[in-house]
Amino acid sequence: IPTSRVDKLLSSMGYGSRNEMARMAKAGGITLDAAELLDVTKRIPVTPDLPTRMEIEGEALDPVAGMVILLNKPLGMTCSHKEDGALVYDFLPERWKRRDPAISTIGRLDKQTSGLLLLTDDGDLLHRVISPKRHVKKTYRAKLARPLDGTEGELFASGHLMLEGEDKPLAPAELEVVSETEALLNVTEGRYHQVRRMFAATGNHVEKLHRERLGGLSLPDGTAPGQWKLLSEEEIALIF
Ligand code: URA
Repeated sequence: IPTSRVDKLLSSMGYGSRNEMARMAKAGGITLDAAELLDVTKRIPVTPDLPTRMEIEGEALDPVAGMVILLNKPLGMTCSHKEDGALVYDFLPERWKRRDPAISTIGRLDKQTSGLLLLTDDGDLLHRVISPKRHVKKTYRAKLARPLDGTEGELFASGHLMLEGEDKPLAPAELEVVSETEALLNVTEGRYHQVRRMFAATGNHVEKLHRERLGGLSLPDGTAPGQWKLLSEEEIALIF
């Protein structure tokens, strides 16, 4: 089990600078096992149960590491740390923007795509989820500008569809027709604007795009846009 100085740990979790942590402790704002922790230079074991044992100004400590967040991404928010405007990170507690390692989205949804989005501070997990080798299935609901012509399913399943500007065909993807102008599309890759470009390649246009599933995960019923939750170990295991 790794150990860490309390001030260093809390600072890396975004609670403030080491000096601020020292001041907070002196004021009685940090407790461990219900006792005031006054010396923030003390090293403590960093166990996963720390959030049940440590309180910061009366609130349970945030998860220490390896968190996976499930967010219902609304339209109009960007999956980027850098751009101006509304970012998906704005839904999370402000201090989480200062965490090290940083919390990042696992892959991206376009600004104008809604639905299931995962975020994590676990770089290994992130790479496992987005690796094309793992074939994690993503299900998108697409509303189309024009009626399907009936050839799309075969084309998408063929493994031969080449998107403009690329030199490798898309892996087979599975289409489920919902209505003349609506379909579910299951893909295992995550290429740039993939679903929109797949339908564009058939002469159609995606008007609305929503991600419903990723691996064995879906958004719990009634999850409003912008709502999020931390996933349990069991839920994280459902990704693969
Ligand atoms: N495909 C797209 O075109 N956009 C997304 O956001 C996700 C998949």
